[in-house]
Parts: sequence; C-alpha cells; structure tokens
Amino acid sequence: MEERKPLKLYFIHFLAAGHMIPLCDMATLFSTRGHHVTIITTPSNAQILRKSLPSHPLLRLHTVQFPSHEVGLPDGIENISAVSDLDSLGKVFSATAMLQPPIEDFVEQQPPDCIVADFLFPWVDDLAKKLRIPRLAFNGFSLFTICAIHSSSESSDSPIIQSLPHPITLNATPPKELTKFLETVLETELKSYGLIVNSFTELDGEEYTRYYEKTTGHKAWHLGPASLIGRTAQEKAERGQKSVVSMHECVAWLDSKRENSVVYICFGSLCYFQDKQLYEIACGIQASGHDFIWVVPEKKGKEHEKEEEKEKWLPKGFEETNEDKGMIIRGWAPQMIILGHPAIGAFLTHCGWNSTVEAVSAGIPMLTWPVHGEQFYNEKLITEVRGIGVEVGAVEWTPIGIGDRLNLVTRDHIQKGVRRLMDASDEALEIRRRAKDFAQKARQAVLEGGSSHNNLTALIHHLILLRHARLLA
Ligand code: UDP
Repeated sequence: MEERKPLKLYFIHFLAAGHMIPLCDMATLFSTRGHHVTIITTPSNAQILRKSLPSHPLLRLHTVQFPSHEVGLPDGIENISAVSDLDSLGKVFSATAMLQPPIEDFVEQQPPDCIVADFLFPWVDDLAKKLRIPRLAFNGFSLFTICAIHSSSESSDSPIIQSLPHPITLNATPPKELTKFLETVLETELKSYGLIVNSFTELDGEEYTRYYEKTTGHKAWHLGPASLIGRTAQEKAERGQKSVVSMHECVAWLDSKRENSVVYICFGSLCYFQDKQLYEIACGIQASGHDFIWVVPEKKGKEHEKEEEKEKWLPKGFEETNEDKGMIIRGWAPQMIILGHPAIGAFLTHCGWNSTVEAVSAGIPMLTWPVHGEQFYNEKLITEVRGIGVEVGAVEWTPIGIGDRLNLVTRDHIQKGVRRLMDASDEALEIRRRAKDFAQKARQAVLEGGSSHNNLTALIHHLILLRHARLLA
C-alpha cells in the first residue's frame, strides 16, 4: 500500500539560469510520474517558471521572499543571469545565502520524502539529515566533467588528465581559485545521498558512470536531457527569461533559409565579452560567408549610454551589409526554438553544459569556445571524445564570464572554425552525421524503455524503499 502512495519531493534551485532551468525541468519529470513536486523559488523566478514549465496538477511552486532591499538590489533582480557586473553579482550571492533560514523553516514545517537541491547548497545535507530524509544533489555539469575534475585534483595545476577512460589535455590550465572551489563543492557533494545529472548515459558514456561510482563510492543517476520534457513552443520560448525577440520573428527569418545553412552564436547567460572581442566575432562571421544568428547579451545598467558608444563593437555598416545574412539578438534569445529549427547548421558555443546538451538533442555540430567555469572540460567531451564538434582555439580560462580578457580569439580562427563545420567537407559531413546520431540517442533516452527513463523509474523505486524503511525504523 505504502509503495503506491506518491512521493513528496522538494526541489531547491540555485539562482542562475543555467542551474534553475535544468533542475526545474527535471522536477517536472517526477510530477509526470505521479509524484507531488514543490519547487522552492523566489517571486521573480517563479514568474519565469510559471511561463516556461508545463502546467501539471502535481507540480507547484513555493516562494520565499528575496531580500532585495537588505542587499541593495532593485526589485525583481533575483538571479545571477539578470546582472552583468561584479558588485551586483556579489549582492545576488549574499541574498541567496540569506534564503537559507526561510527555506529551512518551510521544509521543517512540512517535511518531504526527499529534497533535491543544487550542489551549491551544501547546508541542505544537514537539514535532510535532521529530518532523516535523503538529499539528492543536482550537479549541472556532465558526469564526464565531474570525473575529470575529481581526477585532476591529483595534479590540479596541470591541463593533462591521464587517469580518465579517455585521457585528455585541456586547452588551458584551470585558474587556481576555480579548481579549489570546484574540488571543494564536489567533495561536499559526496555527502549527499546521490547525484542527479542533466545528461544521458550514451553521451557521457557508461564507462564514466562506472568510473564515478568506483572512484567516489557515490551513486549518480542520468535523467536528461531535461530540455526534452514535453511543452508548448511558447513555453520553450520563455525558458530562462523573457526573450527580447518574438519566437515568430526568429522562426520566420529561419524559415527563409536553407537547411543547415545558419550558424547560431551564443555564449550562455553569464558571459560578457569586451568590445574588441565582439568586433572580432563580427569580422570572423562575415569573412566566413555564412548566415548567422548572433546573441549579444545586453550589459545591464548601460541603458543610458549614448547610441554611438553602445555599438562600438560592430564594424561600421555591419548590419546594413549583412541585412539578409544575419540577425543580431541584443539580449535573451529563445535558444531552444532556434536550435530546433532545421536551418541551423552549427552552434558557436561557450560549452555551458545546458547549451551543449540542447545542441546534442537537436543534432547540431558545435564550434567550441569555452570561457569560464567547467567549460574547458566539456569542450573535450564534444570534440575529442564524441567527435560532434571542432575547437575554435580558445586558450584563456577565467573563473567567471565577466571582465576583460587578455587573449582574443581572432577573426581568422572564427572564420576557419565556422568554415570547417559549414563548408560540407568530408570531415564536416561526418561530424554532422555523428551529431544527428546523438540527437536520436537523446530522444530515445527519455522515451519509455530508454536509459534516462529507466534511471528515473529506478530512482523513484529506490526513494519509495527508503521512505518505507524510514517509516518502519
Ligand atoms: N539561454 C537562452 N537564451 C539565451 C541565453 C541562454 O535560452 O539568450 C539558455 C540556454 O538555452 C541554456 C541556459 O540558458 O538552457 C544557459 O545554460 P548553459 O549551461 O549553457 O550556460 P551558462 O549560462 O550556465 O553559462
């Protein structure tokens, strides 16, 4: 009897688009299997989630107040992806830390059977322990990357990682402060009951699940790609933030293009390039001769800049010259809609893990340009290990995506990289074939009988057994 009673699960997301989007998508997976899911969030993030998650009677949101005034942030700024300077970034982090007591109060008053929380919230382990319930950690990286970080801790200042199933040499050395931070959070994550990742076994490779479980003694479940949950086109377009262009405008423009003929350029939600770098991208894409959609995030707080100062990053007359060839989106783009359009032929990406899995799910070859965080590891999975992309030649690894960079990726590198993927050479065709093959595998993984679908069934069964054992104890 007890076994049939639905589980009650709480999900706590971190306040950044790249963390919130996949964890909340995964939360909906549990509700579609008949379990009661509550996502704990803040008011402005709740507004975004209401528009982008499919509505389901078993999925609800619980909001805790975001302490905007206490930290000195304007109302409605409740997410790292909504700021673009270090000062505001620090304020969002401080406010996030202040959410712990109200979240704890809520959870303690109405304890669930399991808490699934972002790996950046280690305090949830103590809370779960106190309530004698399991805590699953959501880590937004691939398992390949988690394994690479665990093994690189043997010699953390070297870009060579020998002990993985596929030994790799990273294209840059990780910044020391980042390595230290990542090692600490991954160590802490081992205190959780287990790990859920937004990837699928075939992409990471079964060997990495074995490697992870053997080297850490910890359990990991692949439940992704989370982006493949069923939802309407409008919900897809509203994912993460409100887009600055309408989905219809993007689709109409792409409809006028040939299959596989457009390069999509986007560096995620946290990366702001200096003008000189943007200028190189403009020159490089123009020199490649290929059509493009280029997302350039708006630097917040710069709305009052004079028009002529604003666009210094574009060569004179660039938009007029490229009127029919390109579309520049200044701000948030409906990425899932764009990647899902047959006209897209390649993705120039920062290798953020969500963008990577979304490109894989859409069968789009990638031109890899890692910038910060764990992206240099993802690059190697895409290029050397799975052969579904090529490298643009980025060699500067910064802890975060804000701030000027010393080494520009030149227009020449960009032009060559784009042509390597788009010019229909034998190499490009082979990469495209492999990318399409992975898209097929991604879709199969989430269907009944697929690897992620089975993992979710097994995980739910496991959580029900844990609840049963707790009630008997
Ligand atoms: N995204 C989007 N529109 C944008 C920029 C990003 O929809 O203009 C989404 C993208 O689809 C992905 C997430 O934001 O789901 C970014 O996550 P990722 O891990 O790729 O990069 P991060 O922003 O964490 O660096």
